[in-house]
Amino acid sequence: PEPVVDYRLAFQLTLGAMVILGLLFYWNRKLGRLNRQLAAANDRLAFLSVTDDLTQIGNRSYFDQEFGKIFRWCQRNHTGFAVAMVDADHFKIINDTYGHDAGDQCLIALAGIMRDHFRRDTDHLTRFGGEEFVIFTSFDDRGELVSRLEGFRAGLARQNISYNGQQIRFTISIGLAIGTPDKDTAPAEFLRLADNALYVAKQNGRNRLEILTTRNSN
Ligand code: GH3
Ligand code: MG
Ligand code: MG
Repeated sequence: PEPVVDYRLAFQLTLGAMVILGLLFYWNRKLGRLNRQLAAANDRLAFLSVTDDLTQIGNRSYFDQEFGKIFRWCQRNHTGFAVAMVDADHFKIINDTYGHDAGDQCLIALAGIMRDHFRRDTDHLTRFGGEEFVIFTSFDDRGELVSRLEGFRAGLARQNISYNGQQIRFTISIGLAIGTPDKDTAPAEFLRLADNALYVAKQNGRNRLEILTTRNSN
């Protein structure tokens, strides 16, 4: 006997399979979208955890994570390493004269000008704490690095910061520690040297850059 094709059943089975495939497809798309949202949220969280709220440059955690890494990279590759410690001059007077909120705007302006002068992949900008900032970077050309720091210092000194109809001006002092780290040098030595250079800059009248070169370096 001829096999009887049950067209009705075949149609229902095909339809059922198509509905299931459709649902799977939809579900898959939805999962993909959720995964992408999750990845973006994670990226955002990772960014926020190393970013200073006020100035949007690296925070202290970022400094702690990256400083040693960049230092060791320079050590391995016999490349120059530079640490610039930047401190706002007489900032207490700015706060006392214009208020703390105006002071905050000044720090935002400072970070903006810093960013304008240090925009390379190798430049690492951090707010070290309060009105103190640290830039660290590998470098090939010492003169060029120094001139970018001078440009930053002079650029800020020229800037009028508008706050509530007032024009605020302030300056920064910079201590730069520079050298090619050898295998016996510790990253903390660079930081200490930059701090010493900053102290010299303050002693020598502020609104200036002072440079100290590490021992054993060329
Ligand atoms: P110097 O030139 O010797 O560095 O003088 P200074 O007044 O800047 O130094 P001092 O360390 O005595 O004062 C730092 C001031 O910076 C005091 C503090 O209130 C202010 N400051 C620190 N962090 C912030 C901040 O996040 N916002 C504002 N508005 N002020 C801050
Ligand atoms: Mg200060
Ligand atoms: Mg300070």
